[in-house]
Amino acid sequence: MPASGSAKGAAMVTAVAYRLADQTRQIAQTLAEFRLSKAQLLEVKKRMRTEIENGLGKNTHDSATVKMLPTYVRSTPDGTENGDFLALDLGGTNFRVLLVKIRSGKRRTVEMHNKIYAIPIEVMQGTGEELFDHIVHCISDFLDYMGMKSARLPLGFTFSFPCHQKSLDAGILVNWTKGFKCTDCEGEDVVELLREGIKRKEEFDLDVVAVVNDTVGTMMTCAYEEPTCEVGLIAGTGSNACYMEEMRNIETVEGNEGRMCVNMEWGAFGDNGCLDDIRTQYDRAVDENSLNEGKQRYEKMCSGMYLGEIVRNILIDLTKRGFLFRGKISETLKTRGIFETKFLSQIESDRLALLQVRAILQQLGLDSTCDDSIIVKEVCSTVSRRAAQICGAGMAGVVDKIRENRGLDHLDVTVGVDGTLYKLHPHFSRIFHQTVKELAPKCNVNFLLSEDGSGKGAALITAVGCRQRAQEAQQAAQQA
Ligand code: ADP
Ligand code: MG
Repeated sequence: MPASGSAKGAAMVTAVAYRLADQTRQIAQTLAEFRLSKAQLLEVKKRMRTEIENGLGKNTHDSATVKMLPTYVRSTPDGTENGDFLALDLGGTNFRVLLVKIRSGKRRTVEMHNKIYAIPIEVMQGTGEELFDHIVHCISDFLDYMGMKSARLPLGFTFSFPCHQKSLDAGILVNWTKGFKCTDCEGEDVVELLREGIKRKEEFDLDVVAVVNDTVGTMMTCAYEEPTCEVGLIAGTGSNACYMEEMRNIETVEGNEGRMCVNMEWGAFGDNGCLDDIRTQYDRAVDENSLNEGKQRYEKMCSGMYLGEIVRNILIDLTKRGFLFRGKISETLKTRGIFETKFLSQIESDRLALLQVRAILQQLGLDSTCDDSIIVKEVCSTVSRRAAQICGAGMAGVVDKIRENRGLDHLDVTVGVDGTLYKLHPHFSRIFHQTVKELAPKCNVNFLLSEDGSGKGAALITAVGCRQRAQEAQQAAQQA
């Protein structure tokens, strides 16, 4: 007997409902891999702690992934810093040259002038000589612009890549990260490369005093305003942190007195496989398509350069499985880098209606239904939540280490933060703060936004460096 129309209709509705329920379940299952439990986050914190010890230890340092690089910055500013300084900021989205005028006294002031210069991709991935010639060319232009070519200014070089330092003014590049890949630089002292570039140009002279990591610049800038600031964090293109460690724990540097700032280079956390149990197939896909496969695995899970790529890889997979965009993978979706992290910020904004999410996707060339836009938003918020949480788990490990170093039951500390992901994403900072609080309950952590850490901070470090140098010269003169 043929089924009646209504029975057939009901069966079809049921079938569709089943299919939708199954689809929802499968999407949820995919995203569940990104949702970490408190136990898992505590495990991330614990592993970070292990890697910190490895980086600091004499016998474990060479094979350690989190390098814990000494910076030779031994104190935060004390307000007596004074003078005119030049600063360079290389390693972020923009290359900048700055003139920073610091005035001490009753009314402390910092006045800054800066100019942004483009670094063409062929220079970013060309030879080292081309890169440094380009940098020196930009400095030359800036000095003309400021009318300061004849002064031999002290310079702080913010160079935000892992460097082995043996002093404040020498840094041997361990390896390029982010978008850079110039030849003949890895294993070389970047301060020497800069000095050689200045010599080749024969137009002006500078006194290169310090090579500075952006995390350290950020910490110093905040410490200038708030003396309890002893940690620096970057959540921008990349992810990294630094903090004041006890000299006695830094086995790679002579001496046991006082403290020194350590550039953790924590982006490389997980490069020995210790995070592989929480990495997903999408994290692996992003890694395989990157300039530095196998490297910076933690950074690739939590920084601006990669979050959009993780999202894009999930969207491709969901589309392949027929859950999105009517199963059609458009050319746009195949394009690496198309899903920038700023789109995540827009899509996740609470003020945005779904229709506006669709408009953003439309701009990206993605023709979406209303259901699609709900799923895309869910994917974005899942990926950025995990980023904020694992970043928070790492930070919880750091502040608890500082607390234990000082034998305290309770620690009050300030973290200076810079980076557009932290500043502009609608939820990242809140979830990050929450996670640190939950995972390090014995620490009261205050967060301070850094105002141009890599410019002002470099100048402050240069000022502190000049003071250190003057003191050392005086001591030497007295002994002689
Ligand atoms: P850098 O880390 O390169 O010094 P920024 O801190 O400005 O510079 O970070 C730039 C990165 O921030 C970009 O590469 C991008 O990944 C991310 N970003 C840019 N705009 C936004 C935004 N609106 N929301 C979240 N992340 C953003
Ligand atoms: Mg920066």
